[in-house]
This record gives sequence, C-alpha cells and structure tokens, in this order.
Amino acid sequence: MAGKLYLVPTPIGNLGDISRRAAEILEAVDFIAAEDTRVTVKLLNHLGLKKPMTAYHRHNCGTAGPAVLERIQAGEDCALVTDAGTPAISDPGEDLVALCAGAGVAVESIPGPCALTVALSVSGLPTARFTFEGFLPLNKKNRWTRLDALRNEERTMVFYEAPHKLRATLEDLAAAFGPARPLAVCRELTKLHEEVLRLTIGEAAARYAAQEPRGEFVLVIAGLPAQAPAADGEGALARALELRREGLPLKLAAARAAEEFGGKKRAIYDQVLEIEGK
Ligand code: SAM
Repeated sequence: MAGKLYLVPTPIGNLGDISRRAAEILEAVDFIAAEDTRVTVKLLNHLGLKKPMTAYHRHNCGTAGPAVLERIQAGEDCALVTDAGTPAISDPGEDLVALCAGAGVAVESIPGPCALTVALSVSGLPTARFTFEGFLPLNKKNRWTRLDALRNEERTMVFYEAPHKLRATLEDLAAAFGPARPLAVCRELTKLHEEVLRLTIGEAAARYAAQEPRGEFVLVIAGLPAQAPAADGEGALARALELRREGLPLKLAAARAAEEFGGKKRAIYDQVLEIEGK
C-alpha cells in the first residue's frame, strides 16, 4: 500500500511555533524531504528527533520529485518541510504536491506558520478579501504586466520580497499604485526584531532609501477603494428604473436613487424620462 505525503509547516522565526502535531508527524514518518537539510537538522535537534532526510529544492526538484514519489508509492510516508513556513506556498513544494496528487497519492497538509497569514492578520488592512501575489517577477516586462493587471485591484494585496530587492520593488509599487497608497511593511515576523510599519508606499520607499533593508519582508498593500457608482451613472439609473417599476412617481424615484447612489436627481430624472418616453 502507498504511503502519504505530509506537508509540515515549520516556524518562520520562533521555534516555539512548531505545533505538537507537526512534531508528531516528523517523528512518525519514514523520511523527510527538506529544502535545506542543514536548516532542518537544527529543528530536529530542537525536537530531539533523528530522521532520514533527502534534499528537495528548486535546483533538484525535477529529479528529486519523482524519486520521492517512487518511495511513497513503495509504501513510505514522507514529510515535506521547507526552511520556514508552509510548504508549497511560494516554494517548489507545489510541484511535489501536484506530482503526488496527480499520481493518486494521498497528500495531507498540517496547518501552521505561514508568513502570508501572519502579515495579513497584523497589517491593519482589510482582510475579508485579499490576493496573494508572492514574489513579483524579476523580468521587467513580466513584472509590469503583473503590476498593470493589479492597478485596479480592490482587494488587499500581499507580496513577498527579499531584502536586497526591496528598494527597487517599493519604487515600482509606488509607480504602479501611487505613493499615497497605504501599506504595511511586515519585517522579521515572529523574530526578536519583528517590526510592522503601517505607512504609505511613498513613505516606505523614502525610509528604505535612507536605511538599508535587513531581514525578511512581507508587503501588504491596500486595494483601490471601491468606486462609488458614478454620479448619474448606471447604478443610480438602474435603481431609479427599479423604483419606477415598483410604482414610485418619477420625481420621487429619481430623488431616492440620487440619495442612495450620490448622483444628481435632475440628471437621473431626465435619463429615466428619456428611457420611458421611448
Ligand atoms: N513557504 C513560506 C511561507 O509559508 O511563508 C514562504 C517561503 S518564501 C520562499 C520566503 C519569503 O517568505 C521571504 O522572502 C519573505 O518574504 C517571507 N517570510 C518568511 N519568513 C518571514 C518572516 N519571519 N518575516 C517576514 N517575512 C517572512
């Protein structure tokens, strides 16, 4: 019988964030596929565990993935871990999950630390709807295609960034969204020097132009404020027509639609009159 692939999240800084269940699974599996075995051995030492490990990272995933799958199909259980956080979120773990799932192998994800959710939850920005963008493409053309596609995004946006690319990225973000757009710079989360700055993109760019960025960063950016339906626009007109169908006199329907949608009642009145006259 085939084994299982477990996705085991590891701390993004604070070792106390490893969960009891995550530790139990690391202890129970036959082997661990690790992004960097030297990093993972420190965690295993902290937990008092010894376990066979194999390397699985972006430079060897093409060959290491099928090898891991073969072992699972032969009956071994495997825990996939990365250097920090939840496997398969902005790392090559996603390929291994797709490979195993595609081969009909069971995959189980253990909930735990993830820089995305820690940053989003502490950002102070709306969290009900958001888009996770991970790392922006490095290629200029692809980068601007991505940023252009986000210009009118109303949801909160979450980006990962490496410290040595932060300055250039903040400049590009200011150009794409405007320097006044609110931003939370979440640095070194769960670590000794954790810092959350809630400011604008322009202020963040100025700050890091003067001070070298150090540590790990997540950028959480406010979406474009939802546009109120334009005055005299489709929303107001549609509402006035609806009220007319409900039997309201034209003057009253236009006034109520203007009140609800912020348009000019005279203009709405004229539009309804024109439509009804046809
Ligand atoms: N799988 C990981 C997760 O669940 O968050 C993310 C892996 S991705 C290769 C690494 C990026 O995550 C970093 O460049 C940084 O943007 C973010 N990150 C990881 N740990 C962080 C921390 N302690 N504070 C801020 N950002 C962090």
